[in-house]
Formats: sequence, C-alpha cells, structure tokens
Amino acid sequence: MLNRSKEIVNNMSGRVAHLTDYHNHILSTAHHSHNSPAALYGPTSQPLNDNGDVSDKEDYQPDRPIGYGAFGVVWAVTDPRNGKRVALKKLPNAFSSTVAARRVFRELRMLFHFRHENILKAIDILQPPHISLFHEIYLICELMQSDLHKIIVSPQPISQDHVKIFIYQILRGLKYIHSSGVIHRDIKPGNLLVNSNCALKICDFGLARKLDPNTQVNMTREVVTQYYRAPELLALSRIYTSAIDIWSVGCIFGELLSRKILFQAPGPISQIDLIIDLLGTPSSADIRKYASDIASTYILKQPKKPSALSALYRLNSAASNEAIHLLSRLLVWNPDKRISVTDALNHPFLDEGRLRYHSCMCTCCVITPQGTRQHTNDFEPVCRVPFDDLYEDLTSSQAVKESIHKYIMDHQRNNSVPLCINSNSVAYKNFASSTVANAHEVSVSQVW
Ligand SMILES: [Zn+2]
Repeated sequence: MLNRSKEIVNNMSGRVAHLTDYHNHILSTAHHSHNSPAALYGPTSQPLNDNGDVSDKEDYQPDRPIGYGAFGVVWAVTDPRNGKRVALKKLPNAFSSTVAARRVFRELRMLFHFRHENILKAIDILQPPHISLFHEIYLICELMQSDLHKIIVSPQPISQDHVKIFIYQILRGLKYIHSSGVIHRDIKPGNLLVNSNCALKICDFGLARKLDPNTQVNMTREVVTQYYRAPELLALSRIYTSAIDIWSVGCIFGELLSRKILFQAPGPISQIDLIIDLLGTPSSADIRKYASDIASTYILKQPKKPSALSALYRLNSAASNEAIHLLSRLLVWNPDKRISVTDALNHPFLDEGRLRYHSCMCTCCVITPQGTRQHTNDFEPVCRVPFDDLYEDLTSSQAVKESIHKYIMDHQRNNSVPLCINSNSVAYKNFASSTVANAHEVSVSQVW
C-alpha cells in the first residue's frame, strides 16, 4: 500500500537547496542577515540532501507559496540552518483586534504544547522586531507534501486500506488533542496534511480552544467549515463538546468512501435538511438539549422522515459492514450518544489500520537489535499535560501583543541560531505582498 500511496500524493521533492544562493532564500539566520552571501555560506557550509550527499546546484528549489486562508499565508521555504524544506506561515494583522490576537496566541501555544506524530510539528518562530514594529508573526512548521482534500479531488485511487490508515491517524491525533482539554473545531480534509507514505498530521489550530465545562456558555457557533459542522452547531446550540470534532471525522469518512462531500448544502438550514434526509428526523429528546428553540421548532415541524442510513452502503461498493457501522456511530445526531474518540479507535474497522501504522509508519515502536519490531505499550497516547489557557484573561490586543512578544523572546532563548526574514531575497517582494484570502474567497455562514 505504501508504494502505491506515493502515487496519490503530488510529490514535492524533499531535496534541499544550495545555500550559497543566499539571495534566493526568504529565511536567513538572524545573526548574519546583513552580511554578504560569501561570508554567510562558504563552500564548506553546503548542506546534505536526503541521501546524505552534498546537494547539487540543480537541486535548488525556489521558495514559493503553497496555501493561504482566512488567517495566514503559507510558503514552502528552506531552513538555512540545515537546508531542510519547511513551511513558513505568515500571520499578518496578528494584532488587529483582541479576538485576532488571542486566536494567534492560542494557536502558537497549542502548536508548541502538542507533541504527537499525528499533529503538525511547530519548529520555530522567527525573531520578532522591537515591539513597536511588531505587526505580524512568522511560524515555521514541518513541511508536508499534500492534504486530504487534494487527494480526494485527485484522480488517484483511494483503497479501503487507505481509508483505514487515514481514519486511524485522524482519530489518534484527535484523542491526544481532546485529552489535553482542547477541541479543534475545524476538522476538515484541508486541515489534514498527508505525506507520500500516508502519514497524516492535523494542522491549523486557529479556531481551536480549551473546553471548560464552566464556560460552556455562549461559545461561538461560527466554527467548523459548514459541510463538516455538527448538527448541534447548525442548530445553534449554546453549548457543545469535543463530539463536534467526531462528527467532522464522520463527514470525512463518508467523503473518503464516495469522494464527494457527504453533506454539501448552500446554507445551515439546508445542511440540516440533508442530515435529516440521511439520519431521519431526530426525536424531540435528542434535539432539545443541543438546539435553540427556533431550530428545534423548525426541525420538529417538518414532515417526519425515517432513517436512511442504509444509503451509506452506496457511498462505496467496497465498504465493509464494519466500515459502515463505524461511520453510522460517528454520524449520530445527539452528541451525548455519538461514539467517543477512544471507543472509535477500538472499533474493529480500525484494527488493520493500527497494525499497519505501527508496523512501518510510527516512531513509537522500535526495531530491536534482533531485527524484530517491539511495539509500544500505548498505541494511542494521551496528552499528559492539560493545555493551559490562563492568557485568555488578557483583555486588550496590546496586552496580548506584549505577552506574545515575551513568549517568542523566551522561546528564542532556547534557540542557538534564531532566524529572520531575508529582505534581500528574490522572493521577498512576492512574499511580503502575499496576503490572506479575500472575504469572498472564505466560506461565509448564513444565519437562520
Ligand atoms: Zn508505534
């Protein structure tokens, strides 16, 4: 499967750039950014490529944009400290409002708090200027080759083995996130990065937040891209739990099987209609706790519809009974009755995915000197340290900005070679002018 998987990812070669081309690269080491290229990278400082060889001039890969969204721009660039290709995320207008500043701070802290194979790894933050000139943040993360959305819309085959390995890793990452007390709130195919060996990592914690039972009132409902939004959010619930992420996994599972978005409606009301078409009309008891009065009234006054869950078999003729059973447990109207992430991981459908993952993809199981694979005691670890969100009390964007500045400076102290943006690089002008998506390019939720 893994060889075939290489076909389904649009390969972005991991070869490194030739660092004597100082002017080509957006990133440079902060200590040397104003030095001449010759002084910076002499002939002896050539990096090694993936094969352990000194890279050739022809291996040069230009820094280039690879994605942009509502909150940031991402470029594939070269880390001058080791020649590795990394993802550079620019967060412009980071302090335009208290809400925006808090969101950025939350994302930075979460990415550095989490350490898990199925969560995108943050590598570094660029050294900020003096606080009076501090307007944007640059975050460096590991570079992945593709994402699940690109794979689903590509013509490459997706086998049942692929589905198992992808769903296993999504749930494995989510178990860790949820155990830290955090809800991701935007699980969708585009936020699930994938490499050619099928390794999957959850990214983009811009909408994630700590789940606190005491503050579960008036949580914003404008989370989760609409197609993957749980019915309790569509029904304007004022409270919700980590089960909203589980619903999103169900939608992605269905999409992997059929390669079509499972519930694709133009607005939240028609989105609910599509869910009712599949799950049937929920009972009054199932919706009262998690729906606003207006949404409950709308749903219950519609003609009653029976469950049509058997239609799930038509998503893919190769889907097994076990696959459809797990899918039907993820897509449950009442979040209290929806399967938990731990129970989902223990579902028989994922046994093969677990076995395969821990046979050749994970780093938690090791090869013994005798050449046999020694499995870990804990296939799906939890996060031992709860995520702390005390900074949420900061009440002005200036206060958050000062805290972020201090956070980054503290972070830099552990870093022997800080990085900064190289304004002399050929791509700099393009990078500096790349901006977030325009409003019309970002999906906007309709209201009831
Ligand atoms: Zn393992």
